[in-house]
Amino acid sequence: MPRVYYCTFCRYPIKPGTGLVYVKTDGTMLRFCSSKCYKSAIKYKRNPRKLKWTLSYGKR
Ligand SMILES: [Zn+2]
Repeated sequence: MPRVYYCTFCRYPIKPGTGLVYVKTDGTMLRFCSSKCYKSAIKYKRNPRKLKWTLSYGKR
């Protein structure tokens, strides 16, 4: 069974073999299910709790 990872941004599970990995300068690996999440987190630095399409929406 492949390990299931969850998207750092939207919190949905990432299908094995898909998604993107971003490695921060401190070595932390961030996994994203799609370029949409990747861009929202890295490029636009948006807060997933304020976006309706994420599982974090409305959570503290
Ligand atoms: Zn995602």
